[in-house]
Amino acid sequence: MLYDFAIIGAGVTGTAIARELSKYKVSAIVIEKLSDVACETSKANSGIIHAGYDAPSGSWKAKMNVRSNPLYDDICKELYIPFRRLGSLVVALAGQGTDYIEELYQHGVERDIPVEIIKELSQIKKMEPNITDDVEVVLHAPTAGVISPFTLAIALAENANINGVEFVFNAPVQAIENMGKFFIVDTPGKSFQARAIINASGLFADEISRMAGDESFKITPRKGEYILLDKMGDYVRKVLFPVPTKKSKGILVSPTVDGNVFLGPNARDQDSKLDNSTSLHGLDEVIEGGRKLIPRIPLVESITNFAGLRAVSSTNDFIIGESKVTPKLFQAAGIQSPGLSSCLGIAEEVVDAVKASGIELKLKENFNPTREKPIVFAELPWSERDALAQWNKQFGHIICRCETVTEGEIVQAIRRPVGARTVDGVKFRTRVGMGRCQGGFCTPRVIKILARELGVEEDEIVKREPSTKYFFGETKEFRQPRAASVNGSEVARP
Ligand SMILES: Cc1cc2nc3c(=O)[nH]c(=O)nc-3n(C[C@H](O)[C@H](O)[C@H](O)COP(=O)(O)OP(=O)(O)OC[C@H]3O[C@@H](n4cnc5c(N)ncnc54)[C@H](O)[C@@H]3O)c2cc1C
Repeated sequence: MLYDFAIIGAGVTGTAIARELSKYKVSAIVIEKLSDVACETSKANSGIIHAGYDAPSGSWKAKMNVRSNPLYDDICKELYIPFRRLGSLVVALAGQGTDYIEELYQHGVERDIPVEIIKELSQIKKMEPNITDDVEVVLHAPTAGVISPFTLAIALAENANINGVEFVFNAPVQAIENMGKFFIVDTPGKSFQARAIINASGLFADEISRMAGDESFKITPRKGEYILLDKMGDYVRKVLFPVPTKKSKGILVSPTVDGNVFLGPNARDQDSKLDNSTSLHGLDEVIEGGRKLIPRIPLVESITNFAGLRAVSSTNDFIIGESKVTPKLFQAAGIQSPGLSSCLGIAEEVVDAVKASGIELKLKENFNPTREKPIVFAELPWSERDALAQWNKQFGHIICRCETVTEGEIVQAIRRPVGARTVDGVKFRTRVGMGRCQGGFCTPRVIKILARELGVEEDEIVKREPSTKYFFGETKEFRQPRAASVNGSEVARP
């Protein structure tokens, strides 16, 4: 089949573009190297929808952030994505001066973003009771919000899929042949033909671009490490930023949309695009940074730590639009922060670039903007939980006790469009294993359900990628010989 578009990469950028293109009468396929959507940078970030005052004026980052931020209310309603506009504070401590805060304030005013400078300690403490007493002045931006980045990507992918976009996973693109009127995109199992390519491959966007003949930029990974704390009520109420460093927005403290709290990220350039390990010194740096904002943050509530890699381009900005070297190659590259906040605008911009290139796009009459609302048992009132469990007993069977996730929700996550095929796939769709025990109790039960639903053996179920196996052999399988020789005759081992 000759597709109109091959979108390479299923992070928030690729899935947002897929959904935007699915509004038109086109054939499109998303080709993803890993086993699910949002398995690389889009799964490990701060989950903040930035207000948009931060990036340098005139940059793609600023334009896309400002364009996208207001779009989140409607799309989150349409696609049932939890989203909280809880606002952010940029916190200048005593001795740091007010210049930076005033610069951001000016950006806010020029970009028509609601912002205010607050100097009154009592007013700041009222907003954020546990903030450091060292605070001198803050910039308050009420339109900043928090979202789950993988829920966003999953919802966008589901919606694109029900509107006709195909998805193929475990398909790393290894070569691209430009045939003039179309491209051949090679993956180990299969080749795909497409009239146009959209490069949304994150950390690897320079390599994909090079395969298609455009070597005009390079991507360098920049690691950010995090500590995630358990749910803590309103101990931290807003996204708290420090005065930033040259490389990043600095180590922040923020609630997640699910009510956890995190500290991080730090920022370290590295050579490897694959190493997302955490380190002792990195986490120490995160703790030190977090304590500058919330001095008594209870680290005893820590449940896990993780790291993500920013895709920093050699232009230090997003690269969006048709390649100047390879016609019909459209770039959505170098999408580092604020890429999550910007992905909806980036998707619109890419579609505009497609139109500007002469490709005709006709709107579909029957585009469906929504998806089936996922059942979240833990959020239902008791009466509805009861009724649900009576209707289908799988909703009366709790699999994850920390997050109160039922068998019914797991089955639903597997059976949905672009459904879960791995333990992490179930986790990202249901929050199974995201609580205090981090999957210690529920993982074997999730494996059983996945195997049953997918009609495979339990030892075929993996955490993430084919190499991330749970099962390597049977327990109590001794490596000693099964029989021994006693007085010249062979006896079986007991
Ligand atoms: C520490 C950190 C904190 C951040 N915090 C925020 C924040 O709070 N707010 C915000 O707005 N932004 C934030 N960001 C930025 C945001 O996470 C990214 O901009 C966004 O996730 C990028 O999405 P993407 O789809 O472009 O890339 P990715 O999510 O990396 O997706 C690219 C996809 O392409 C696939 N791929 C790669 N090579 C191939 C190949 N050869 N064949 C097929 N598929 C391929 C990958 O497997 C991957 O799934 C943060 C980033 C980091 C690292």
